[in-house]
Amino acid sequence: MTKILMVATEGLPFIKTGGLADVIGSLPKELLAKGHDVRIVLPLYKKIAAKWHDKFTFEKTYYVNINYEETQVNLYSYVYEELTYYFIEHQGYFEREALYGYEDDGERFAYFQKAVLEMLNQLDFFPEIMHCHDWHTGMIACMCKENFNHDWRYRGIKHVYTIHNLAFQGNFGPAMLDSCLGLGSYVFDNGNVRFDGGISFMKTAIVYSDKITTVSPNYAEEIKTTQYGERLESVLRFREADLCGVVNGIDEEMWNPAKDPLIAKNYNARTFRSGKKANKVALQEKLGLDVDENVMMLGLVSRLTWQKGIYLIIEQLFNIINQPIQLVVLGSGEAGLEEKLREAEANNKGKVAFYCGYNEALAHEIYAASDLFLMPSLFEPCGLSQMISMRYGSLPLVRETGGLKDTVPAYNPATGEGVGFSFTNYNSNDMMHVLWEAIDLYYNDKNTWKTIVRAAMAKDVSWRTSAELYIGIYNELTGE
Ligand code: ADP
Repeated sequence: MTKILMVATEGLPFIKTGGLADVIGSLPKELLAKGHDVRIVLPLYKKIAAKWHDKFTFEKTYYVNINYEETQVNLYSYVYEELTYYFIEHQGYFEREALYGYEDDGERFAYFQKAVLEMLNQLDFFPEIMHCHDWHTGMIACMCKENFNHDWRYRGIKHVYTIHNLAFQGNFGPAMLDSCLGLGSYVFDNGNVRFDGGISFMKTAIVYSDKITTVSPNYAEEIKTTQYGERLESVLRFREADLCGVVNGIDEEMWNPAKDPLIAKNYNARTFRSGKKANKVALQEKLGLDVDENVMMLGLVSRLTWQKGIYLIIEQLFNIINQPIQLVVLGSGEAGLEEKLREAEANNKGKVAFYCGYNEALAHEIYAASDLFLMPSLFEPCGLSQMISMRYGSLPLVRETGGLKDTVPAYNPATGEGVGFSFTNYNSNDMMHVLWEAIDLYYNDKNTWKTIVRAAMAKDVSWRTSAELYIGIYNELTGE
């Protein structure tokens, strides 16, 4: 049994803005099931406080130094489905409308990380492994090794760091090194934390962590190149002996068309045709689309940003809409993309539906109702939506990048194998070509379509294999 502390800034069932929350909500469950002592620590955001605060147990009040002032930390705990969660409360830093995107994000998450490191002392809980996720927790390994090295309890901790998205790095001016992080200037002078004349939380984590993982083997290779490395490729190449890719899984209880309480009709691989028809009609009625159980429905559930390849879809909107399909989009993000999608809906009533915003229940309904799921990402560290869509029998159409390449083997007419459709170059004509093939197959070769859907629904997208890989990494570090 290994003692593991997961440090992250979002996690289900408490708070979610993206795939990281899914991972924090599901990987620990699997590790617990395999007999490990795994605990999770999160900031206590406003949305969490509103819904859960009454249930939490107050643990301690203590102080950490931020901006040369002793700053209060209120620590809470909560046991949910046998997992212990800790919450760091600071109303000024975390009880805001959004999770991220504030000018003082560096200071907010420096505070969080300091509070987490001091929490170990306060609780006298010292894990063998601290597993940190993304830039918001990138300074933990460094602060632990530089500031707590005199204390054997901290010195024994091994650090695993997972990169969920290299594009978000947490780069700040150098002043906070002393004022917020309490680190000596030598870590800047020797280059360990320095990036572009400032400091980078992401780079620091890559330098200091004992093992670095990212969320798919293909992305682990890609980020060592200039094309995908976001200017950290040389640091990643320097650490490549300790860098590997482990594909995420999905929570199979939450995402299960046979039991999902959020969809109109449950179904499995045997009954998917009637199940999808019922879900399609229910969604069409809900969103004001023409009711037609036979029309092919394309789904898209995504942050609307350049990363997700939404521009390719916008470029081809006219051609897509001219096909015998319906298009349902759920997401929010860049204003220009939202505007184009609003226009598309207004000009194609009954055929296109766009829900602008974040809506958990609607996401389930779209996965269940759609036949094809669009995910032509420019880059994609792992991607969860394509795995969810496969489980719901909505075949993913993806660009062969990052985790999409690892998880969606394309249908090959020569062998009859595959679970979706894919194209290589970031080019909307290539995407369109594959889309035409899929549409043709859907209407004109129903047996083949059925075979692909059943293969997709049977594909293992669970955490079982990947959790074993993480355990292997932990064991390597602890010498078990
Ligand atoms: P990323 O983390 O880059 O946003 P992933 O594919 O890894 O992308 O994870 C996205 C997760 O967020 C999926 O569970 C998806 O269903 C969900 N999601 C994305 N946008 C929305 C939205 N607008 N409403 C509800 N769920 C969403």
